[in-house]
Amino acid sequence: MTEQQMTDGATARAQLLARRAELEALSETAREARDVVQLDQQSVGRLSRMDAMQGQAMALANERQRTAELGRIAAALHRLDTGAYGDCLECGDAIAPRRLAVDPAAALCIACAGRN
Ligand SMILES: [Zn+2]
Repeated sequence: MTEQQMTDGATARAQLLARRAELEALSETAREARDVVQLDQQSVGRLSRMDAMQGQAMALANERQRTAELGRIAAALHRLDTGAYGDCLECGDAIAPRRLAVDPAAALCIACAGRN
């Protein structure tokens, strides 16, 4: 591993950890918001049932997305630990640094991502 690659790895790790913290904070906020909605319905009944169901469906979808992204981040951190970071999972070629700069959790090179 060259010095440049090690620097890139450290940057990627910092980005991944920051994003993970952000996602976890979002989940925490969402959980609190859910509790507030439930209380609200019990005590005041201000929200219509429809609004509540819609909000709940959206919250669930968001939570699923966050869980999926957390999984990608955990996998990327694991690849950093094992020295496999930056290699495409499909073809093994190096993933373009620009692609990793945009999405540090990217697991596929542009060509393989395009095929999927
Ligand atoms: Zn590939």
